[in-house]
Amino acid sequence: MRGKRDTKSRFLRVKCEDCGNEQVVFSCSSSQVRCLVCNKVLAKPGGGKASIKAEVLDVLDRDI
Ligand SMILES: [Zn+2]
Repeated sequence: MRGKRDTKSRFLRVKCEDCGNEQVVFSCSSSQVRCLVCNKVLAKPGGGKASIKAEVLDVLDRDI
């Protein structure tokens, strides 16, 4: 089968809007992800897909 891509599970490189810290979060994380620097919530779990509360800089298709 061609085009087998799981678009639901990807890593996103995000930038914290408060402190500018960049970090990678999983797009369907089942737990809340916080900024490592200022502790702002960057991603909240919801309906199987995380809701991203930060600026998404890049989408990483492969594991890191
Ligand atoms: Zn921050």
